[in-house]
Amino acid sequence: MGSQDKLRYHGPAGMARYNIPEAPESDKRFTPGIKTIQETARDINVISEADVIVVGGGPGGFAAAVAAARTGARTVLLERFGHLGGMMTGGLVNIIPHLSDTDGKQWISGICEELMTRLDKQDAAFRPLPEDWGSTDPVVTKYYKDSSFHHFFIRRNKNGEECLVYSVIIDPEIGKNEINRMVMEAGVKLYLHSLVTDVVMECDTVKGIIFESKSGRQAVLGKVVIDCTGDGDLIPRSGTAYEDNIDYGLRIKHLCFGFWIGGVDFRAYDKFVSSRQKDFIALKNELYDKGLYLSFFRGMLKNQEDTAWLHPHFIANSQTDVEEMTRMDVSARERAVRTWELLRDKAPGFEKSYIKLTCPQLGTTGGLRLIGEASMRTEDLKRHEPFEDTVAIFPNNDRGQDSVDYPVVYVSFRTLLPKKTEGLLVACRAFSSDDEANSCFNLVPHCICFGQAAGTAAALAAARGISVRDLPYSDLKGALLAQNVILP
Ligand SMILES: Cc1cc2nc3c(=O)[nH]c(=O)nc-3n(C[C@H](O)[C@H](O)[C@H](O)COP(=O)(O)OP(=O)(O)OC[C@H]3O[C@@H](n4cnc5c(N)ncnc54)[C@H](O)[C@@H]3O)c2cc1C
Repeated sequence: MGSQDKLRYHGPAGMARYNIPEAPESDKRFTPGIKTIQETARDINVISEADVIVVGGGPGGFAAAVAAARTGARTVLLERFGHLGGMMTGGLVNIIPHLSDTDGKQWISGICEELMTRLDKQDAAFRPLPEDWGSTDPVVTKYYKDSSFHHFFIRRNKNGEECLVYSVIIDPEIGKNEINRMVMEAGVKLYLHSLVTDVVMECDTVKGIIFESKSGRQAVLGKVVIDCTGDGDLIPRSGTAYEDNIDYGLRIKHLCFGFWIGGVDFRAYDKFVSSRQKDFIALKNELYDKGLYLSFFRGMLKNQEDTAWLHPHFIANSQTDVEEMTRMDVSARERAVRTWELLRDKAPGFEKSYIKLTCPQLGTTGGLRLIGEASMRTEDLKRHEPFEDTVAIFPNNDRGQDSVDYPVVYVSFRTLLPKKTEGLLVACRAFSSDDEANSCFNLVPHCICFGQAAGTAAALAAARGISVRDLPYSDLKGALLAQNVILP
């Protein structure tokens, strides 16, 4: 590896950021796209006509589809991969944080809580007991504080004491199946292995989508389309305004290659770390010098305590550039194998380990963001009053003194609503926001909330034959409260 491949920095917590290699010399043989060709016009089969079309089956998408179908809409959900859950399952981002504030009051419920409970019943979720949420009792907090996931469970409350917040770690494999069940039970028409490539427009109104699969190029028409692609694929395709600036230091600037190493004997590893400090430091330095991965979480899921979880982050120019994504994937996988080999050979406890799983889909954190009727700007995070169209309330646990002064953040429905385009909602991490606010509230539970609100609104509007823009908030609020969403 060249110097370019080395770590960008080695932070105090070992949270390194890696660089994506430049294109190899051999790529220069292929000239960049200077030519264009014209696609031949053709007829496309319309295989479904629906009330609500949801594109992308991640946290936002599965929730939008379930909410729309439960509200009575004929709902189609399209997902490019063979599983649902997006980053939460396929990206191995299975930590669902901040469902309560630091006092232990739960703010995120609805479909998110339903999924957590369904997984818990199958021993596929790790979460603290409700009576412990907000606890400052050291006997309670110690277990979480000592775990490698302490960052997701422990916060300081308004008195400066360490306390436990309600967060959950889920099994992504059982998660994929449970999300399928929820979608199928709701009566959603599901298309997996289906990449949505375009929108059907009539002036400024989205009328449907076009997708590609092994069955060819097909179309679905609908009354409301919800973009839950995470990356906001339908936003530019429908001519909807967006912003895509991301400050270099923010987490949403990263791509990630999550993978799991199984068969680790952590007792032997801990003994090595405590009794052979010099060798341990030498090992870390060797990993560092070779540009390999330095840190890991320890699995907390039942029967998976022998698993190390690695989430190496790579700084990306764009999160949707296929060439950059390819270079990153190849380089990250090579480093994953080399990291495991080095640990196996030199770290006691890893002798019998093996690579158990690499993320089926690349971890994508940011991307472009809708410019909506309203936008969550950093200054909006300091607000005591709810918006008149609040559709979700998020615990504000991560913002130091601001979290003390403003313990929750209110989400306006208009952050999911484009300014001009009709027939479209955006209910995923591409919600209308500036990069800093996005970096705080682009998380799994938050995107589930966006999806639940958008799916419900789309179904209500479709049933009445009106634009989602014209849906009275009182009706949407009533429907969301009936689904156990917590609102002002
Ligand atoms: C490395 C990393 C660490 C993170 N850590 C955490 C964490 O600890 N806790 C947390 O809560 N959040 C975390 N996040 C953020 C979290 O993953 C996202 O906020 C969340 O997954 C966003 O959900 P989404 O539905 O908007 O998008 P996604 O999860 O990206 O889902 C989008 C779905 O749409 C599909 N799709 C995309 N384009 C198309 C298309 N054109 N046609 C059909 N289907 C399409 C995708 O395949 C995917 O299934 C992390 C993210 C990363 C990458």
